[in-house]
Amino acid sequence: MGFIIKNKKEASELYDKEIAAPSVNEENELLKNSLNYLKNELGKFKELPLLVCEAKKVINNKVLIKVPNGSHFLVNTSSNVVVEPGDTVLVEQRSLTVVQKFDNSKSFDIEDFIIVEKPDISWDNIGGLEEQIKEIKEVVELPLLKPELFKEIGIDPPKGILLHGPPGTGKTLLAKAVANSANATFIEVVGSELVQKFIGEGAKLVRDIFALARERAPSIIFIDEIDALAAERMNIGVSGEREVQRTFIQLLTEIDGFNNLDNVKVVAATNRIDILDPALLRPGRFDRLIEIPLPDEKARLDIVKLHSNKMKTDDLNFDEIIRKTDGFNGAEVKAVCTEAGYFAIREERKVINSDDFFKAIDKIAGVKYEDDEYLGMFG
Ligand code: ATP
Repeated sequence: MGFIIKNKKEASELYDKEIAAPSVNEENELLKNSLNYLKNELGKFKELPLLVCEAKKVINNKVLIKVPNGSHFLVNTSSNVVVEPGDTVLVEQRSLTVVQKFDNSKSFDIEDFIIVEKPDISWDNIGGLEEQIKEIKEVVELPLLKPELFKEIGIDPPKGILLHGPPGTGKTLLAKAVANSANATFIEVVGSELVQKFIGEGAKLVRDIFALARERAPSIIFIDEIDALAAERMNIGVSGEREVQRTFIQLLTEIDGFNNLDNVKVVAATNRIDILDPALLRPGRFDRLIEIPLPDEKARLDIVKLHSNKMKTDDLNFDEIIRKTDGFNGAEVKAVCTEAGYFAIREERKVINSDDFFKAIDKIAGVKYEDDEYLGMFG
C-alpha cells in the first residue's frame, strides 16, 4: 500500500512511526532477550564453584575422592561420567558428586613456566670461587660426563648439591656453568614461584619437572630459593602450608627415586640454610653443602676484570677499587662496572677512569647501606 505524502511534516511523522520506531513486538522480543541474558549471568554468579579433586579408587559404583584439604570421601558420580583411579575430577560442592572429568594434563605445558636452556656461561665467566668450582666439577660435572669411572671405583656421587651463601654471590652462575661444561640441559625452577604461582599444582609440577629432566638427560635441575619449599615448619595447620609441604615431600620422593648415577643432578640454592628442613640434608639427598661466600679481595679483582674487560678504560687503580668494594657481593661489583660506564657517558668521555669507578662505588654503597638500614629497622 502506497502513501501520499503531502508535506515535510507528514514525511517526518511517517518516518518516526514506520521506520525509526521498532514495532511493539520487536521491542518485546528485545526485552525478553536481554532479560534472559541477565538471568543467565545472574545464575553464573549464584552457582557454587566445582572442586578440583583427585579420584583415588573406584569402589562399585562409587568413587573415593581426595579433596584439596587432604580429606577423603566416598561419593557418587553423575551417570555419564566414567572415572578411573588417578583421574582429576570436578566435584559439586554440596553433595561432592563427581560431575565431570577434568583433563588437566594438557592444561599447562611446564616448559612455558620454567626455564629450560643450554646455558652459555663458562667457568671463565666466574670470578674467584676456585675451591667451590673444583668441588662442583668433582661431584656434578664428572659423574655426568664419566659415570663409568664412579661405577668402576664403586663410590656414589651425590644426587644433588646445595649451594648456600649471601645473595648475588654467583650461585646461579655456578649452576649454569656446570650445566654448560657437562653439556647438560639446564632446568631452572624458583622455589617461591613453585608454591605461589601454581597453587594446588606444586607437587604435580615437581613430578613433571623430574620427568622432563629424565627425558632431556643429561640434565641439571636448578632449584633457586629452595628455602621457600623446604623451610622447617613447626605446624602445618594452614592449608597453604600443607600445600608447600606436599610439594616438598614430592621433591624428596623424586630425589629418593632416582639413582646416583642417573644423568640427572639437582643443584639447589639458598640464602637461608639456617631455616632448612634437615630432611633435605640427609645422606642420599643434598648431602654435599657448598658455601658460596662474599668475594674476597682476589675474587673482587677477578670480577672487576671480568666485567670491565670489554670496556674502554684508563689504567685503573685496581688496589683502591678493591679496597673500596669491601663487603660487596659479586652482583654489586658487576653493577659498579656498569655504573662507572654511565659516569663516563654522562661526561661525554669515551674512556672510563678510576674516578668513574669510585663514584660508582659510592652510588652502589649508598643504595646497599640504605637498604641494610631499612631492613635493620625491621630486625
Ligand atoms: P641470588 O641468591 O640472589 O639468586 P646468586 O648467588 O644466584 O644470587 P647470581 O645470580 O649468580 O647470584 O649473580 C648475579 C649476577 O652477579 C651474575 O649474573 C653476575 O653478573 C654477577 N656475579 C655474581 N657473582 C659473580 C662472580 N663470582 N663472578 C662473576 N660475576 C658474578
